[in-house]
Amino acid sequence: MDLGLKDKVALVAAASRGLGRAVAEELAAEGALLLLCSRSEEAINKAAKEIAQTTGAKVLALAADVSEAADIAKLTQFGAERLGRIDILVTNAGGPPAGQFENLSQDQWEAATRLTLFSAVELVRQVLPGMKERRWGRILNITSIAVKQPVDNLILSNSLRAAVTGFARTLANEVAPFGVTVNNIMPGYTRTERVEELAQVMAEKQAITPAEFVARWEKEIPMRRLGEPREFAALAAFLVSERASYITGTSIPVDGGWIKALI
Ligand code: NAD
Repeated sequence: MDLGLKDKVALVAAASRGLGRAVAEELAAEGALLLLCSRSEEAINKAAKEIAQTTGAKVLALAADVSEAADIAKLTQFGAERLGRIDILVTNAGGPPAGQFENLSQDQWEAATRLTLFSAVELVRQVLPGMKERRWGRILNITSIAVKQPVDNLILSNSLRAAVTGFARTLANEVAPFGVTVNNIMPGYTRTERVEELAQVMAEKQAITPAEFVARWEKEIPMRRLGEPREFAALAAFLVSERASYITGTSIPVDGGWIKALI
């Protein structure tokens, strides 16, 4: 299937590793031009260079913290100057800290809101006018299975990803007449660096090995294994493609069957 991504310009946020990087790699392989960011200049330049080398795509990178509106403005301005436009926006950031209600301060709630909700809102604020003007755009938010089925001990993520979903669903209706689609992918347990690190920390706390800890997650997943970032990125590439032109306002899981709900 030709996804029609050749020469589309995609901004993928938080892309030095993990799901964001896997999406960037997939879009580059499909012939898109890329603008990537993460907080560390060194990490994002390295990722951009590696992706450009393996795919032959044009990949630009800029250090930006997506929880800072000023950084997002700088990033999108850089994209406009160097690439002329942004056709595809993939919003993403690191996950907010784990914890239960009584262990989290007001400051932590505010920081998590900036990281998870405002980052998506501000990225959209910057790129949407151009998409509407050109009457073509794709906005894709990386959320979580927590939107459908809250995960214990993750009250910040459970609350704020629901907020992103409400934002996205409402925005989808507002911008649909302009040829702009807005969708979300809900990753399940996917083997990224973050998940490996989390397994390490949790295993140490429980005096078991990381493999034993991962096996507990795998028991809850009908496919009995973690997902691979590439499996997530395949759906992302489709949802931002020309071919997904009549799909908007949805949240689709890539979770090996973890969500137990019917629809
Ligand atoms: P990861 O930690 O492996 O990668 C996160 C990326 O975001 C890195 O490139 C990091 O540098 C960048 N980043 C972090 N904070 C940033 C900021 N403020 N500004 C700019 N860049 C920033 O994480 P991942 O596993 O790829 O997860 C990506 C998102 O998906 C997270 O929000 C995570 O909570 C969510 N998620 C992941 C899984 C999973 O199993 N991997 C499951 C559900 C939800």
